[in-house]
Formats: sequence, C-alpha cells, structure tokens
Amino acid sequence: MESMVFFFLENMALIIALMFLALKGKELLLLNIKSPFMWLWLSSFFIGFLTFSVMYNSLDYEGMHLDLREVPLYFISYVGGWKLGIISSIFPSFYRFHLGGPTALHGILLSILLPVLIGALFHNKKTFNPTLNIISIKRMMIGLVIFEIIKSFLMIWTTPATLSITIAMFFFAFIAVLAMGLMLNDAHQNIISRRELEYQSNRDSMTNLPNIRYFNRKVENLIYQKKPIAISMFDIDYFKSYNDTHGHQKGDLLLRTLGQLLTDSVSKEDFIARYGGDEFIICFSNVSNPEDVTNATNLFLKNVEEYNFEGEETQPGGKLTISMGVSFSSENQTLEQIIEETDSALYHSKKHGRNQITIYGL
Ligand code: GH3
Ligand code: MG
Repeated sequence: MESMVFFFLENMALIIALMFLALKGKELLLLNIKSPFMWLWLSSFFIGFLTFSVMYNSLDYEGMHLDLREVPLYFISYVGGWKLGIISSIFPSFYRFHLGGPTALHGILLSILLPVLIGALFHNKKTFNPTLNIISIKRMMIGLVIFEIIKSFLMIWTTPATLSITIAMFFFAFIAVLAMGLMLNDAHQNIISRRELEYQSNRDSMTNLPNIRYFNRKVENLIYQKKPIAISMFDIDYFKSYNDTHGHQKGDLLLRTLGQLLTDSVSKEDFIARYGGDEFIICFSNVSNPEDVTNATNLFLKNVEEYNFEGEETQPGGKLTISMGVSFSSENQTLEQIIEETDSALYHSKKHGRNQITIYGL
C-alpha cells in the first residue's frame, strides 16, 4: 500500500514538474508564436508526451497498468475542448493498446476516453482563448470529481482494482489537476499583467495615444537603420482660450478627439504620440516621395479645420485650428536635431498667422 501511494505521488510530481517547465517554455515562445492554431498543436503534443511519460512507468497490478494518465487528458479537454482532447489522446491510446493485457480496452475507455469526454463536457467555449486562457478552477474540479466517481465505480465493479487503490488515484489525480489549473492561471495572469503594464507604460493616459518615450524608441530605431524619415509636430491654436471659455474638462475631451482624428489619419507604418500639453508629433516612415508627406499633413490640417469640435465657435475665427511644422531627416542627424528643426518650423507657422504648415528649410 505504502509503495503504491509513493508510486502515485511520483506520477503526480512528474505531471506538476513537466507542466511547470511547459509553462515556462510557453512564456518564452509567446513572443515568437502568434498563431492560435500553432498553440493548439503544441499543447496537444505536450499533453500527449506528458501522458506517455506517466504511462511509461505505470504500476502493474493484477494485469492492469495503473497511473494518472487521466490527469493531463482531462485537463486539456477541460481547457481546450474535445478536439484537443481527442488529438492528445491518440498516441496514449495506441501506446496502451500496444502494452496489451486483459484490461487494455478498459484502460483506454476508462482512463483515456472518459476523461476526454467529461473534460470536454465541462469545457467553457465562451471564455476559451488558446494562448492566454484563465480557467474556472471550481468548474474544473467539479468535472474532475464527477469523472473520478464514475471511473472509480466502474473500476471497482469491472476490474480487480481495490477501494484503496481507487481512493489513492482519486486523491493524487485531484491534487495534480488542481495544481495544473492553478499553475496555468498563474502563468497566464502573469503574462497578461506584464503586457498590460507594458501597454500602459507606452501610453499617454489622457489621450490614450502612444507617449513620447515609446515614440522616441521606435523612431530612434528607424534612424539607427538609416531610414529616411520626416517628423511633423502640431500644436492647437489658442487652446488656452478654449480652456478658459469651456473649462479644462472640455479641453481634455478636445485633446482626446484630436488624438482620435490623428490616429485615423496616419498609416500603420507611421508613428504618432502626444508630445506634451497641446502638442502632438508624427513620424512618417515612408518618405520615398516627400510630396506624400506634405499632402498628408495638408489633408490633416484641413480635416481639423473642417471638423466640428464642440464649442469651437468661441475660438478666434470661429474654428478650432492647428499649426504644423515638418522636417525631413538628412544623413547623420539625431532625432533631437530633427525635432528641433520641426519645432522651429512650427514656431514659424504660429508666428505667421497659425492654421498653416511650415516645412523646415523651404
Ligand atoms: P498658441 O496658439 O500659441 O499655441 O496658443 P495656446 O493658447 O494654445 O498656448 P500654448 O500652446 O502655449 O499653451 C498650451 C495650453 O494647453 C496651456 C494649457 O492651459 C493647455 N493644456 C496643456 N495640457 C493640457 C491638458 O492636459 N488638458 C487641458 N485641458 N489643457 C491643457
Ligand atoms: Mg497651443
């Protein structure tokens, strides 16, 4: 009895250790593998391997091969559904068949196909996300207990297994599934929190645009790669007056609306950020034709002028407008130098009447 308990304890420890390693590997791979389809295959391959590992050293008892193979199979079917469960169970089923013995068919039905079936019945399709799933531990354990009760009855009734063996298997399977679920949730929660933190640290909290730190990092990378770029900055005309008339909250709303207009106006390869206060910045990363940049900035200036911002009628000229500056990079210029040029072009636009664009050096 004692050696049997140690045997199942070992099985459980093996499952937990391999699960831990797999989740650590997943954290590393997550950066490179984006396809959910690939994750489904990797998961079933891992579960197939894990099941084989516990079956490889099973306890021989009265012609039966006893082990905790149901644990990974129930777990994957609960987390990922019946398709994943079936794919993961193909290799273990063949292996059990190959081992032979009088209880081979029983082994396949009771501890390979039944856990897949019950796991899949409890699987929650609505919350399923193949890469970062947070599962309900309670629901998973209820499903497992139901499976273990059915399996234990059938085992005692149809095989030479004793009550103490089934209780030991029940106990260690319970702990192993619980540990797998907790580890999965913990690892996924860590990754989600890390991503959220990373996202927030790259954002301007008020406009939800990228912040200047993120912008600098991305644009410095383009400059490092010697890519020709153009930087454009714009600043709202008479924003102080808007704030004074309508209050800071309305001013904030206007900054957010302008941020959204900007997001909708640039292409995917370009970078934007809130530079600070009422100033925004754009990096055009494709300047093979400089005319495209001047056309894009002209269009944006016009769009802002034509947009009906709430309360803009109180602004000088009855319209909310912006002033812009643009500078095209030249060889060996630093980002700081290009921004300085853009800033002086913007200053020129302000000085010469606002609601206009100045291109540095022209
Ligand atoms: P100009 O045409 O010369 O740009 O005049 P301006 O009134 O827009 O003045 P300026 O750009 O120098 O000042 C920007 C103003 O933007 C100052 C401040 O009251 C306002 N501002 C800066 N940050 C925020 C913010 O987060 N929310 C709001 N509501 N206002 C802000
Ligand atoms: Mg301003």
